[in-house]
Amino acid sequence: LETQLRHAQKMEAIGRLTGGIAHDFNNILTVISGNSEALLRRTAADDPRRPEIEDIRHAGERATNLTHQLLAFTRQQVLHPTQVDLNKTITKVRSMLSTLVGEDVELTLTLPETVSPVWADAGQLEQILFNLAANARDAMPDGGVLAIETDDVYLGEDHVGRIVGVRPDDYVVLRVVDTGTGMDESVQAQVFEPYFTTKPVGKGTGLGLATVFGIVQQSGGQIDLASSPGSGTTISIYLPRTRTSDGPSGQPARRASPRRG
Ligand code: ADP
Repeated sequence: LETQLRHAQKMEAIGRLTGGIAHDFNNILTVISGNSEALLRRTAADDPRRPEIEDIRHAGERATNLTHQLLAFTRQQVLHPTQVDLNKTITKVRSMLSTLVGEDVELTLTLPETVSPVWADAGQLEQILFNLAANARDAMPDGGVLAIETDDVYLGEDHVGRIVGVRPDDYVVLRVVDTGTGMDESVQAQVFEPYFTTKPVGKGTGLGLATVFGIVQQSGGQIDLASSPGSGTTISIYLPRTRTSDGPSGQPARRASPRRG
């Protein structure tokens, strides 16, 4: 399970990186291919420079094919969001999470039945749970409690100022709370950076929270981190509630109008 998790984290990060690079390269290659085509059209058939330009065009074509292959590969990892019952997702992986955290960590779930569905990729939500549970486990070498909670929240203006980028609206929060070592401020400031890890080589990839961050961002959500050394960590993930054109679950959309003053 542990090895699978690390592998999934690496694949996710590689996919994200490769997709970005392939996309940018594709744009650059359009210029190279386009200009070599244009040059060829303006070059006489017996022009001695022609073979060199043909080589450029040929190389450009091969590179374009390669980036298309890479894009096709990374597309497999693109999100497939659907209406997801977060509680069901958590319940489904409960026993795997228990196995992951080990016997010394007590896993408690608080999943109110009333929680709204979210619009997200279920597989990616599972990955978030595994990444966060693995971190919690590592933060509690002598055991402790890992609490996973869900709830409907309304992020009003007070919150909006604190969590950058969140508009006042209705969200579902996924809270992952541990009673572990916690993190000091300098660690907290870096945790979402790819490859940042305080764990020994071979144990940490530094990709766990970066992956979580990427997934949450792509899902239109936000992350809040609260941690203090010695007393544990709470990671709150806010995911947008399902919103069809008619609003959540067929109800008229209840959009919060920004309150002033
Ligand atoms: P990794 O777990 O591979 O180190 P992450 O991106 O998941 O990579 O985490 C980065 C770092 O953040 C960890 O090395 C650890 O120092 C810190 N961290 C993450 N989650 C927790 C937690 N629940 N409690 C204490 N520290 C944590």
